[in-house]
Amino acid sequence: MRVIIVGGGIAGLTAAALLTRTGSHEVVVLERAEAYGDAGYGLGLYPLGAAVFHALGRYGELERRSRVLDTYTVHGPDGAVLQTVDLGSLLERFGPMLGVSRTDVIDILAGCLPEGTIRFGTEGTAAALSGDEVVVTTGSGEQLTGDLVVAADGMHSALRTSLFGEVALRSTGFDAWMWWAPEGSTAAGTASEHWGASAFVGLYPMPRGVNVAVGVPTALSPDPHASPEEILQTLRAVVSEHNPGAADLPHLWEITGGRPFLWPLADVRAPQITALGGRAALVGDSGLGFLPTAGVGASNALRSAAAFAYDLSLADAHGVPVAVQRWSHRVHRLVEGNQDDSRQLAKVMLIKHGSASKVVNAIMKHMPVTAMTKSIVKSMEVPF
Ligand SMILES: Cc1cc2nc3c(=O)[nH]c(=O)nc-3n(C[C@H](O)[C@H](O)[C@H](O)COP(=O)(O)OP(=O)(O)OC[C@H]3O[C@@H](n4cnc5c(N)ncnc54)[C@H](O)[C@@H]3O)c2cc1C
Repeated sequence: MRVIIVGGGIAGLTAAALLTRTGSHEVVVLERAEAYGDAGYGLGLYPLGAAVFHALGRYGELERRSRVLDTYTVHGPDGAVLQTVDLGSLLERFGPMLGVSRTDVIDILAGCLPEGTIRFGTEGTAAALSGDEVVVTTGSGEQLTGDLVVAADGMHSALRTSLFGEVALRSTGFDAWMWWAPEGSTAAGTASEHWGASAFVGLYPMPRGVNVAVGVPTALSPDPHASPEEILQTLRAVVSEHNPGAADLPHLWEITGGRPFLWPLADVRAPQITALGGRAALVGDSGLGFLPTAGVGASNALRSAAAFAYDLSLADAHGVPVAVQRWSHRVHRLVEGNQDDSRQLAKVMLIKHGSASKVVNAIMKHMPVTAMTKSIVKSMEVPF
């Protein structure tokens, strides 16, 4: 079977790594970037997604490059703890929650592929059916023919636009800014979040340092072209005003290299995750994109790509449409449920007005945040 994967991010590389294991498929990954280099900031991996590394025989390597997150705390704007979630019972049932840099995850996944599988500097721009085959057009006008195309080109997918037309992103009206800070702003093993109106601060300890995420309304967001120091100054002023309990956390504003990374907080839901009569599949953020609020986007990309590779392994080129439909039946509702949980959390984490924030903070003293992540827990219990 000839499989063309557009996008060598987490979903695309996972699908490629699992499909190339038997050696019976011709797989090519078209990746727009010229090289991976420093490929992002921190990811939270639930056992839901991390388990895929068992299938790849790389779980030990993932563990070595990760930190176990065993506690999650939510603080109010005065710094007081609203709730502490001991992740121990979840860890016992399913396996650890890991904090890991995206660069490391990409590096491990790319290391599973046979030499030459990834074509860097190649953009996929469109896909169309030609009889029982799929033709993928690249940015340079080249046309590649396969039995199947996998659109794994992320939230702003060009393939999704080619298959369904423009699908509007659903914006939260907030921007997140991320950087690495030295350890010390949160306890080892503790992911801590400070929820304030118009200023969210999240601290996630990982081997490379603490992954800081600061969320502010777009109207208060720094100029992305400003220097790193100016960006941090603007964010610090917003946090000092709206979330004073977090503003002076030790080392928070000490960036350890690079630029703060801007992430406009939006997600997307394609009309379907299959197209071209079952010869196109939208895997990962391209079909169902995630807000980072539940930290479950990468886990869903890993798990649904693994499910995809499994369903495809049960078919030959002729049976691709049935395999792709079967995969869609299996994962679509589960991934949407996880996406809904992430949207639900965004409503309580990203609040603009002080009065609404006070209500949420009062509720958070009594309602466990796990009540808003039921679909995520369920998706670890049922076939995916
Ligand atoms: C550079 C980058 C940094 C990120 N940093 C973080 C982070 O710090 N924390 C976090 O939680 N999430 C981060 N994410 C998002 C996170 O990886 C995804 O939300 C999630 O893992 C879903 O994975 P995905 O494979 O569907 O999409 P992505 O991981 O976004 O991968 C999409 C891939 O497709 C490539 N691509 C895009 N368009 C085309 C095209 N037309 N042709 C060919 N290739 C294309 C991209 O270069 C990328 O490699 C980042 C994504 C990117 C691309």
